[in-house]
Amino acid sequence: MVQRVAVIGAGIAGATCAQALAQAGHAVHVFDKARGPGGRLATRRMAWVDASGQPCTTRLDHGALGLEARSPAFQAFIDDGVRAGWLAEWSPRLATGGRPLERGTRFHVPVPDMPELCRRLLQGITATWSCTVDNLHRNPLGWQVESAGQRLGAPFDLVVLALPPAQAAPLLAPLQDEWARQAALSPMQPCWTLMGVATTAGTAPPRWDLARPAAGPLAWVMRSDARPGRARMHGQAHWVAHARAGWSRAHLEQAPDWVAQQLRAALAEQLGGPVEWLHSTVHRWRYALPPARRCAPAESCWWDAAQGLGVCGDFLGGRGVEGAWLSARSLATALLRHAGAPLTPACCEALP
Ligand SMILES: Cc1cc2nc3c(=O)[nH]c(=O)nc-3n(C[C@H](O)[C@H](O)[C@H](O)COP(=O)(O)OP(=O)(O)OC[C@H]3O[C@@H](n4cnc5c(N)ncnc54)[C@H](O)[C@@H]3O)c2cc1C
Repeated sequence: MVQRVAVIGAGIAGATCAQALAQAGHAVHVFDKARGPGGRLATRRMAWVDASGQPCTTRLDHGALGLEARSPAFQAFIDDGVRAGWLAEWSPRLATGGRPLERGTRFHVPVPDMPELCRRLLQGITATWSCTVDNLHRNPLGWQVESAGQRLGAPFDLVVLALPPAQAAPLLAPLQDEWARQAALSPMQPCWTLMGVATTAGTAPPRWDLARPAAGPLAWVMRSDARPGRARMHGQAHWVAHARAGWSRAHLEQAPDWVAQQLRAALAEQLGGPVEWLHSTVHRWRYALPPARRCAPAESCWWDAAQGLGVCGDFLGGRGVEGAWLSARSLATALLRHAGAPLTPACCEALP
């Protein structure tokens, strides 16, 4: 029987789950508080004005650096994206003197920007943007999804929460005590991110596109415009620098101007001299990544068949984009078994 499914969250977890359910013939409606899909697979469209008063726009990938596969299933997903042309391998030149990459690391990035991956997954699926879901409750007609006292969409048979744990916890509290408690206790690391456009006039460009400084506030520095499919502008370098989790936590509530000053100074040190910024800004990710070493929950997703309620995301499936994707696929498998729907061939291929 066709199930009406509400998916809250349009990052890679929500988009993956939504696609698997829609391909199996269910009526899926996605809701996200942002203006479009992607979540932490993010590209900022930064508007600024140059010295001659000309308005300029620069796109900077200020969330996840890229996709890295450890499992054969995620590798196959990446290979499909590369064949279809919306994923490209990114082989950055690594700065010397910093921390090395893990052996065998291969990055892939969606083109032309990071949200493209979720846009592709959500093709043809109904979505409502700019709506923060703040209440879920069941009545005899089904699940009601609400935002600021307004009901969103028709009643639903099943609900999927694909959100960072701190954002899932308040929605779960009246519905699933134990999950709400576990979600509220799930640690997530914050990250302050500096992004901006610098002039390259009169300076020798660095011979690297990615750096992992061994010390100081910065964990990662990359040239966003050196990635596949990104626009390169003559005389400009587009920088994105992510602060370490410890530094970000220690300065989480500091004023953005102060943070920007600190991170610009750290980037200048990494580049070996002053940087002439045309425009720069910072973004605070309160929930960037689960810690690398942590006691992960036993299940890769949560599914309550009696209520028709499921939860997925990187905090359940493992750190990073791959973990979020694996978690979403586990949940989609559980939901499809529950729904008992005949799987279409495309959907069968998509599931483990
Ligand atoms: C700076 C940074 C660097 C990273 N680097 C890497 C990396 O190199 N490699 C890697 O694998 N991973 C990296 N990650 C982590 C990776 O981005 C995440 O693990 C992955 O994207 C999580 O996907 P998700 O779908 O679980 O969650 P999200 O992408 O966070 O999606 C959740 C969605 O839910 C929406 N939402 C939240 N609350 C509500 C609500 N109440 N109502 C409606 N919508 C809501 C949000 O707007 C968002 O779109 C990085 C993350 C950051 C921030």
